[in-house]
Amino acid sequence: MTDVIAAPPQPRIPIGSTDGATFPVRRIHCVGRNFAEHAREMGAAAPASKASRGNPVFFCKPADALVVDGVVPYPRGTTELHHEIELVVALGADAPPGLLDPAHAEALVFGYAVGLDLTRRDLQAAAKAKGLPWDTGKAFDDSAPVSRLVPAAECGDISTRSLTLEINGEVRQHGKLADLIWDVPEILHELSKLYALRAGDLVFMGTPAGVGPLQPGDRFRASLDGVVEFDGRIVTGDSDAG
Ligand code: MN
Repeated sequence: MTDVIAAPPQPRIPIGSTDGATFPVRRIHCVGRNFAEHAREMGAAAPASKASRGNPVFFCKPADALVVDGVVPYPRGTTELHHEIELVVALGADAPPGLLDPAHAEALVFGYAVGLDLTRRDLQAAAKAKGLPWDTGKAFDDSAPVSRLVPAAECGDISTRSLTLEINGEVRQHGKLADLIWDVPEILHELSKLYALRAGDLVFMGTPAGVGPLQPGDRFRASLDGVVEFDGRIVTGDSDAG
């Protein structure tokens, strides 16, 4: 067989500790409303307890939305680009067929990174108001900046870590992973009810409170505290669409 066009490049994330080693990406799953304070700041109800938390909110980004060098062009089609700092989970093995037992979920994790679930908030808000899908607000070009990946064995107990996002040297978001409504094994279990999970899949775990706008020229420093830091900046986009 012969491809009739050049094969698109495979999106990849560099591994922190090993020169030249990379992680090829298959899919990007994302979790919405996984911190109570962020759910509230978005005008959604936050569950009062684990028993009343219902089902997690999931959406996807295309794998080629990844940005690994930290240089993020301001996207077309929006005047309200928002930052959402998130823990990123990378799966290094396929889930077995059927439902994934939460007790077996962490064994699938290759490593962790810190990323930004960049959001065209104006488009997302318009879609929400009409009960329409979030895709144009979430699943756009360069919407998934991600740090290098750190193997799980080097991260310690991830549930004791925290996330911090500085914009131009000022802390805008900070949250403890202990405050996740759904933790990593629970999210992988829930995803397995809906999708086949495979090696190469990423999961963006949801953002703490404090989301807000980004402008061309802004510099960001995203930290998974004690594990990895990711520096980047927003640059003027190539769009004439505004
Ligand atoms: Mn998010």
